[in-house]
Amino acid sequence: MVDGVPGPISRLVEELSKLPTIGPKTAGRLAFFPLKAPARQVDQLAEALQSLRSEIVECSVCFNFSDGDPCRFCTDHGGEGSTACVVEDPLDVLAVERSAGFRGRYHVLHGAISPLEGVGPDDLKIDDLLERVKDGGVAEVIVATNATFEGDATALEIARVLEETGVRLTRLARGLATGGDIEYADPTTLSQALEGRREF
Ligand SMILES: [Zn+2]
Repeated sequence: MVDGVPGPISRLVEELSKLPTIGPKTAGRLAFFPLKAPARQVDQLAEALQSLRSEIVECSVCFNFSDGDPCRFCTDHGGEGSTACVVEDPLDVLAVERSAGFRGRYHVLHGAISPLEGVGPDDLKIDDLLERVKDGGVAEVIVATNATFEGDATALEIARVLEETGVRLTRLARGLATGGDIEYADPTTLSQALEGRREF
């Protein structure tokens, strides 16, 4: 920030700039918002941020973020409970849920293999997926990683690791735009991709 900006404002700008998709310009605009907004609204924002860290946990089964462990997907989804949909990020779970084409369980990898960013298989929840399959209760694994180089590399690694288990392994149909994130896929396309999933 330029000289003469009060410390608390600069500090907030600095913190906001660290958030995904927020550049310095947007951070500057956002930093002045709490000064103009009603005090109650600012308190609610602060409370919401704090309770996120104190109340949200990682599900010990599927690694999705949840307000309980195990999460509601790991406990509620009885019907197709033996199918696990593997996604890169928690936001992808929401996208698949919106598509209404799937009512099974999930497995969140928390990323994708990316040599450029120094993310390898060991940084993801792939071994945990293997353990889950070995423990039984998973009859089919649907790999729903993004249609990107990283997503493809991750899908191949999962196929390699799970091969020994003999579990049914499928991948989303290629209806999704190449280079596309599951997170941004429209519900109908995603639903069709799930419907048309194919064996590896
Ligand atoms: Zn779970």
